[in-house]
Amino acid sequence: MPIDTQVAGKIRSVNPASGEVLGEIECASDNEVLAAVQRARVAQPQWAEVGLRGRIPVLREFQTKLHGRKSEIAAAITREAGKPLAEALVTEVSVVLDAARFLIDHAWGLLRDQPVPHGNLATKLKRGRLIREPHGVIGIISPWNYPFSIPATETLAALVAGNAVVLKPSELTPVVALALASLLYAAGVPKDVFQVVIGEGPTGAALMRSAIDKLVFTGSVGTGKRIAAAAAERLLPVVLELGGKDPMLVLDDADVDVASSAAVWGAFVNAGQACLSVERCYVHRSLYEPFVKACAEKAARLRVNDGMDANTDVGPMIHERQVRIVEAHVEEAKSQGARVLVGGTRLPALGVNFYAPTVLADVTHEMRIMREETFGPVLPIMAFDDEQEAVRLANDSVYGLAASIWTRDRKRGERIAGRIHAGTVMVNDVISCFGISEAPHGGLKASGIGCTHGPFGLDEMVRKKYLDVDLTPGIKKVWWHGYGGSFRQQMEGFLDWQFGRGWGERVRGALRAAGVLRRKRL
Ligand code: NAD
Repeated sequence: MPIDTQVAGKIRSVNPASGEVLGEIECASDNEVLAAVQRARVAQPQWAEVGLRGRIPVLREFQTKLHGRKSEIAAAITREAGKPLAEALVTEVSVVLDAARFLIDHAWGLLRDQPVPHGNLATKLKRGRLIREPHGVIGIISPWNYPFSIPATETLAALVAGNAVVLKPSELTPVVALALASLLYAAGVPKDVFQVVIGEGPTGAALMRSAIDKLVFTGSVGTGKRIAAAAAERLLPVVLELGGKDPMLVLDDADVDVASSAAVWGAFVNAGQACLSVERCYVHRSLYEPFVKACAEKAARLRVNDGMDANTDVGPMIHERQVRIVEAHVEEAKSQGARVLVGGTRLPALGVNFYAPTVLADVTHEMRIMREETFGPVLPIMAFDDEQEAVRLANDSVYGLAASIWTRDRKRGERIAGRIHAGTVMVNDVISCFGISEAPHGGLKASGIGCTHGPFGLDEMVRKKYLDVDLTPGIKKVWWHGYGGSFRQQMEGFLDWQFGRGWGERVRGALRAAGVLRRKRL
């Protein structure tokens, strides 16, 4: 029996492998969410005032503290989200340590004022400057599948830029969010500058209605659309990191052994519950049979068990309702002619949330398993005949998060990457782009708006103010009122001077334009 995660006014955190109740946490009421945001508003100016000189040492301290508690945090992630301990370390703790490193090293350069040189001769006597200011209070709503690395990377970027943060984590992983809070407080982040509000969807909706200045949302397309509609009402800027149906293209010159290992890792890491998972695989017909065979053999060797066991390759899914989605997709594909090479069943002996790593062959593009996000341990594989068809199939999706191309010819891979509609295309790798702190992470089409991570992700955490300083404060501008009869000719001369073709026209233009200096202005 699935364990109920809801009790009146409380969230019950449950270990998805064992069903053990990890804790019961009070939900924030709507009023408490609004109050948390108000406290954040009051605290934020002082945090901004501290400057990078004060905030970067706090990030450094956070990094040190996280490094010191890496095993404990990884274990907390595994207990609450189910993924193997090794994955908790590699795809969560390590990603956050490196995100901190990136911000510590680069925030100065990326957040400093930037000169805006003017090209137009009419504005040469001004100095322009771009200033990056914090938005104020950033709301973050996060999912359960990467309960540490997603909110932590977004929070660090928001904080270093001088914002306060109110985080609404997934109701399935509140304990990990509270562990993040404890690390930040221990590092010196003031209590009101980072706050966690625990609860389900309505708590997120309350955060949307509060006085936040921007929202960074990661989750499903359905919730993302609801957030976008609510944000449009009040013109709240949002970043939306949504679902994906990432294709993997295995070209005729790919290394079958390497590519099949990548497909198996890409489809089954975190039990397939990654936004960047390999959700559909297209293989050139000449490699199809050996590739499918290799994937089936490797998937069959995966050890499925509680993630706390050091030998586990694949842990449980987060919740029984996710298992039901996977089951429905697989059963429907089977009934439409897909061949199950390995898996295709629940593993009740291990627990209600376990589903066997599943490799499907002979799938078609009409099947739901190739069109909708499955978000589980399933690798559906389909053959293609030529590059054109591979690109067409990859792009035939409402999603556009990421894609991968497998080939021994790097140039060919890069050329095809240019034709794929996705926020990220990897040539000869999968998923690891999320751990590259310098790289932006974000999707096209239904996969979202805006991005997180890297310089562009940091840029989302600041608003841009253009500062214009005139260097001739005692002089009236030539374009002000008092136009008079000759003004039109003078302006035409000015345009000829700047944009005319050939020296003759430009010099004559300059002479006519010179008259404007003698013009009387109001
Ligand atoms: P979800 O949309 O169900 O929930 C995400 C968060 O939104 C949770 O905290 C939830 O409580 C909150 N929420 C739900 N209803 C809300 C509402 N009406 N208003 C405000 N907040 C609300 O998603 P999930 O099941 O937690 O996560 C899985 C999904 O997230 C998958 O689709 C996956 O692809 C996607 N995802 C995307 C990325 C990315 O970077 N693009 C990363 C991880 C996960």
